[in-house]
Amino acid sequence: MISVSKAKETILKNTSFLSSERLYFLDALGRILHEDIRANQAWPPFSRSTMDGFAVRSKDILNASIKKGVVLEVADESTAGTPAKKTLRAKQAIKIMTGAVIPSGADCVVMKEDVKENSQTVAIFKRVEKGGNLRLKGADAKKGDLIISKGVQVTPGIIALLANLGRKHIRVSKVAKVGILATGDELLKINDKSRFGKIRSANEYALSAQIKEIGAEPIILGIAKDNLGSLEKKIKSGLKYDILLISGGVSVGEYDLVQDVLKKLFVKIIFWKVAIKPGKPLVFAKKGKCHIFGLPGNTVSSMVSLREFVKPCILKMCGQKKELAKVAEAMLEHDIKLDPRRMKVMRGIVSTKKDKLFVRVSANQVSENVMSIAKANCFFRIEEGVVSFKKGQNVIVEYL
Ligand code: AMP
Ligand code: MG
Repeated sequence: MISVSKAKETILKNTSFLSSERLYFLDALGRILHEDIRANQAWPPFSRSTMDGFAVRSKDILNASIKKGVVLEVADESTAGTPAKKTLRAKQAIKIMTGAVIPSGADCVVMKEDVKENSQTVAIFKRVEKGGNLRLKGADAKKGDLIISKGVQVTPGIIALLANLGRKHIRVSKVAKVGILATGDELLKINDKSRFGKIRSANEYALSAQIKEIGAEPIILGIAKDNLGSLEKKIKSGLKYDILLISGGVSVGEYDLVQDVLKKLFVKIIFWKVAIKPGKPLVFAKKGKCHIFGLPGNTVSSMVSLREFVKPCILKMCGQKKELAKVAEAMLEHDIKLDPRRMKVMRGIVSTKKDKLFVRVSANQVSENVMSIAKANCFFRIEEGVVSFKKGQNVIVEYL
């Protein structure tokens, strides 16, 4: 049995990268960037007003105050999209709208709220420093500047940036294809009638849902029986994918035959068993470019294993530099007694009371209780060696 950190390190060391493709930028949402995004022009592309008001020379309004306005001649207008034709001269103002070009000669903008307009003149009642209420050309980026580095996931914010830069196509990682196989003689298909002693197979759906959330493509390979022939046929059909997930059959039972079949197919087993609860009997193996995960059969265990071990593998495969987990600190609502031998991944419910975050376990935490994950909105991890956690202690929760 190896530690969780050793398992993660080993998986990442053995992860191969996917190639990239050029996509229409909106279709790249959620993908990992395979090229840097640089400014192809200065940003902002021209000095622009951040307010509706009047563009002026700051030195002309040094004496402006609420009590005594400074009167300037209104020389022209600069609207969004249509710059003023005239250059600003001494004792003049040019009416300006948010986003419009700062006329040459002006060095600040007085907000509309701080002036009184007449037909040909405007009285300014507030001093504004040079550079006030405007953004200078190139303030955020000069032409050629690196704005977003490759290895980052494309967000709606990055889509906005690409649109601003006029970048209709962008190079991103291909999507990881993930074959998903359930195994077990006790498993019924979703349309089968209930039968005594049998259970409906959930894992191929649960794992598919998680894979979709990560942004990879699940391919359901069905259910293999607990015999060498059935397993071999199904496993063989899954070795063409970037990742093959096999749920069940990796424990120590007499019918846990997955490892035997993997060996028969010349798959290299890299490790088996990790000090984590739930999810101990994890198998990690490789054949060529196919990364194989033998996941424990219990639905909760297989889903926890996917989150802890398969997700980092997929993200690395796609070239993501760093995963940004959605985490927060929350206060435990009750005591927890723990088996200190393994790292625990608890399924919890986070709630807010008076702006503070609280967390409690979602249901009985035995790994065969699917309710514990169905009701959860977070995971929280408790390191190996910890015997108990007390009500009122803080834990780090990760939103699901
Ligand atoms: P195994 O790892 O094959 O020993 O399975 C452990 C437990 O998980 C057993 O109770 C199985 O019935 C259950 N299990 C295995 N595969 C699935 C599945 N696809 N859907 C739901 N439960 C499963
Ligand atoms: Mg089984």
